[in-house]
Amino acid sequence: MRMASISLAGIALFLALAGPASAQAPFSFDSAFGRLPKNVVPIDYTIAIVPDAMELTLTGQESVVLDFRQATDTIVFNSLNETLDQVQLDGQAVDSAVSDDQKQLTTVKLGKPAPVGRHTLTFSYKGRIEKEPQGLFAQPYVKPGGGKGLLLSTEFESTDARRMFPCWDEPAFRSTFRLTMTVPAEWAALSNMPVASRVVQGNLATVSFAATPKMPTYLLEFSAGDLAETSADDSGTRLGVWAVRGQEKDGATALANARQILADYNDYFGYPFPLPKLDSIAVPGGFSGAMENWGAITYNDQILLVTASSTIADRQQVFSDQAHEMAHQWNGDLVTMGWWDDIWLNESFASWMAAKETDLRNPSWNWWESEDATKETAMGADARDTSHAIQQHVTDEQEAQNAFDPQITYNKGEGVLRMLEAYLGPDVFRDGIRRFMKAHAYSNATTTDLWNALSAASGRDVGAIVSTWAAQPGFPLVSVTASCDPDGKRTIRLSQRRFLLSGTDSGAAHWNVPLQIRSGSNGAPQALLLTKDGQTTSAGRCDEALTVNAGAIGFYRALYDEATLRTTTQRFATLSRRDRIALLDDQWALVEVGAQDLPTYLALANAMGDRLEERAWTQITRALGTIEFDERGGSGHDAFADYARSILKPVADRLGWTSKPNDTPGIQSLRRTVLEDLGDWADLQTIAEARKRFSAFLADRSTISPDDQEAVLFVVGRNADATTFEQLHTVAKTAKNETELRRDYAALMRVRDPKLAAEAAHIALSNEIPQQAATLRLNLVMALVDEQPQLSWTTFSDNVDVLMAPFTSYAPLAIAQYLPAAFWNSVPPDQLEAWLKQHVPAEMSSSIARGMETVHFKLGEKTRLVQAGDRYIAALPQRGSLAGGAPSTGTRAHEKD
Ligand SMILES: [Zn+2]
Repeated sequence: MRMASISLAGIALFLALAGPASAQAPFSFDSAFGRLPKNVVPIDYTIAIVPDAMELTLTGQESVVLDFRQATDTIVFNSLNETLDQVQLDGQAVDSAVSDDQKQLTTVKLGKPAPVGRHTLTFSYKGRIEKEPQGLFAQPYVKPGGGKGLLLSTEFESTDARRMFPCWDEPAFRSTFRLTMTVPAEWAALSNMPVASRVVQGNLATVSFAATPKMPTYLLEFSAGDLAETSADDSGTRLGVWAVRGQEKDGATALANARQILADYNDYFGYPFPLPKLDSIAVPGGFSGAMENWGAITYNDQILLVTASSTIADRQQVFSDQAHEMAHQWNGDLVTMGWWDDIWLNESFASWMAAKETDLRNPSWNWWESEDATKETAMGADARDTSHAIQQHVTDEQEAQNAFDPQITYNKGEGVLRMLEAYLGPDVFRDGIRRFMKAHAYSNATTTDLWNALSAASGRDVGAIVSTWAAQPGFPLVSVTASCDPDGKRTIRLSQRRFLLSGTDSGAAHWNVPLQIRSGSNGAPQALLLTKDGQTTSAGRCDEALTVNAGAIGFYRALYDEATLRTTTQRFATLSRRDRIALLDDQWALVEVGAQDLPTYLALANAMGDRLEERAWTQITRALGTIEFDERGGSGHDAFADYARSILKPVADRLGWTSKPNDTPGIQSLRRTVLEDLGDWADLQTIAEARKRFSAFLADRSTISPDDQEAVLFVVGRNADATTFEQLHTVAKTAKNETELRRDYAALMRVRDPKLAAEAAHIALSNEIPQQAATLRLNLVMALVDEQPQLSWTTFSDNVDVLMAPFTSYAPLAIAQYLPAAFWNSVPPDQLEAWLKQHVPAEMSSSIARGMETVHFKLGEKTRLVQAGDRYIAALPQRGSLAGGAPSTGTRAHEKD
C-alpha cells in the first residue's frame, strides 16, 4: 500500500499493528503469530457473490476446501457483519454456527470431531457493501462528461476481506480463490486473475475469474463498473490500465510506466511476474493512496491518470507510486510477511525499491535527492523519545491502529535499506533479494529470513549489523573530532549517542553505523563500520572539507568539531550536491534541538548563492519558513522576513516565472517553492507579478502552463482581497477535472484575510467538493492552518467525523499522531491533549504521546528560534530593505492593490 504523502495533507487509508519488539525466527506456518487456530487450514475458496450496489447489500455462496491437520469438532474463522445460513461440512448440517461481530469471528461446532484430512465447508450468507473504502465498497462519482456514476471496488488490507466474505483473514493462511460475481451486464468486472467465463442473463452478467495462486486474503481484489482500458502485452504479461469510461486514454502514461517497471523488476527479482496479467485500476475516490492487490492494483485515480492538466510533479507521483505497488507484486504478494509485525518488510522494501526504480528510469529527476526530504521527515519522527522500532510485535489485530507509524514503517525502513544496500554493494544486495524470493515464493517470510538471505549473498552477518536499526527505536548522532599531525594529515575520532529532540541522550542505545567518509570535495568515500566509541581513522587533510555521510545516504546525523565545521563551511561551494544536502540537514536539525547555534546553519544557507539545486533550497526555505512562522506577531518578524527574502531573491531572479523547455522537474519545483515563499513573506514585487499573471489567466486560461499555475494561484490566493477571492473561487468552480480542482481549491485555502478564510473553510465543507474527492476536504481544512491556526482547528474539531470518515480505520492513528503536529500553535497543549483523549481509543495512548511530544518540541523550538533569529538579525551590519517587503508593522501586513 502506498501513502499518498506523509504530510497530513496526504493521509492515506492504512492499518497496521504494533507492540513491543521481540527476537524472531525464520518463518514457519505453525509458529507464525495469529489469532486463528492452525488445526483447520483453508486450501481453496469458491465464492459466488451477488452485490446489490443500490441497497448496499450482498448475498454470497461460499465453499471452502479445508485441511484438518488434527481431528476436531470446532472450526473458527473471521467474519464481520455477515449472517451465515445452511452451514454444512461435507454436505452434512453442522451443529451450530455462531458469529460474533465484536470478536470478528464465526465458530462452527460439529456433531462429532471430523477426522484428519480434506473436508469441505459450505454456507450461504448475507453481508454489506460499505460506503467507505473497507471491504467491498460502492463509490459514487461524477462521470467525465457529467452525470452520476457508481462503481464497486474492494480494499482489504489489513483485515477487511472478512467484510466481503467469511474467511481465514490472516496473512499466513495462503489459499487459492475462485471468485464469481454477478453484476450489471454493461459493466466490466475485474479481479486478480483473468475472466474465465461470463454468462449474461437478462441485464445481469455472472463473471467467473480463473483460480488465483496461493495467496493471503488481503490481496484479493474485485472492481466493477462502467470501466474501459488501455492495454499492452509484454513478455507474456498482459498489462491493462483501467479507468471510468471516457478517461481510459489518460492511462497511457501509466501503461508506458508499467511496461518499463515490469521489465526492470522481472530482471531485478530474478523471478518473472507470475500471473498472466497485471491490471492497474483508477478508482475515482475511494481512498487517497493505492493498494497492491496481486495482479489488480487499485489506485486513487489522481495518482494513476495523467491529463492535460497534470504537472510534472503529478507524473512523478504516478511513476513512483506505480513502482511502489509493482514492487509489492513480488515483495508482499509473491512473498508475504508471516504476520503484521513484519509489515515494514513489505512497506520499507517497496518504498526503497520504488525510489531506486524511479531514479533508474528518470535520471534527470534527481530522485534520491528529493527522497532526502522523506528521510528527514522520518528522522524528525524517530528523534522523539516516544518513537518505536521499525520491527514491532503485534499481539492482536484488533489493536490495529495502535502505534503504527508510516514515518517509521515506510520511510525509516526505506532509509535503512538504502544504507544497507550501499554498505553491501548493489549487486550483492540484489543477489540476496533474489535468494529471498526464490526461497519463499508463494509463501511467507520474516525479517530474519531477509537478513539470512543477504548474509548468504554477502558472506557477512547482516543480521548483526542491521538489527540495531530495525529492532530498536531512534538513530545515532555521530560526533566527529579531528586532530592534525604536523604535516596537516587528519585523524578523526568517532563516537555515537542517540539523537533526540529533547537533547542527545547518554543512554545505552548503540548502532553499527555504516559510515561513508569523504575528505575533500570529490573522490570516492571510504566505508567504515562504526561499532565502538572512540574508534579512529585517518581522513585526508585538515584543510579539506569533511563529511562522514557522503552522498547523504546514511540514516544518522553528524556533529563536527568547531574547526572542522568551519573548514567545511568555507569549502561549502566546492562540495558535491549531496554532501551539501547532508550538511544542511544535520546542521539545521542540530540548531532545532539547540545543540548548535543558528549562525552555523545560516552561514551554509548564505553560501548557496544562486546555485540552482532544488533539494538544498527546499531544505533552506523550510528552515527559514519555520523561523518566519515562529516570529509572527513578534517585533522581530519583519526584519527576519526581510532577511529571508534577501537569501531567496538571487535564486528567484535566476529562475524567473515561466518554465523553460529544458527545466528539470526539480528546477520547476524549485521555482514554485521560491515564488510561493516570497509571496508568503510579503515580497511586493512577487505579489505584483503574480497578480498581473493572474489577470491574464482569467482572460485566457492557456496563458499559464499547468506546471506554473500553482505558484501564481498560491501567491494570489495568499494575498487575495474579496474581489480576487471571488475570482479564484470561480476558477475553482469551473475546474475541468479533479487535478485542476485540487490545485484551485488549495489556493483558496491560503487566504490571509480572516473573513475570507472563514468563507474558505465553509467552501471546503460544502458540496462543491464532489464525493469522489472526499479525502480532499481534510487537506483543505489543514491548509488553513498556516495563516489561520484557530480557524483551522475549530473547523477540524467541529467536523472531525465528516473529515476523517474516508480514512476508515486509519483515522484514529492520524488524529493521535499527525494532527497535534499541525495544531501545535492553534490550541493550548493541555486542551489539545484532552481533546485527543476524548476522540481516540484509550489503547492508543502511545500515539497520543508521540503527537504531544511534537507539540511540546515545537513550542520550545519557537522560543529558541525567535531568540536566535532576533539575535542574528541584530548582529547583521545595517542595511536597507533588500527585497522591497511590506511595511513593517510588527505583524504581517496585508497589501491591497
Ligand atoms: Zn505499500
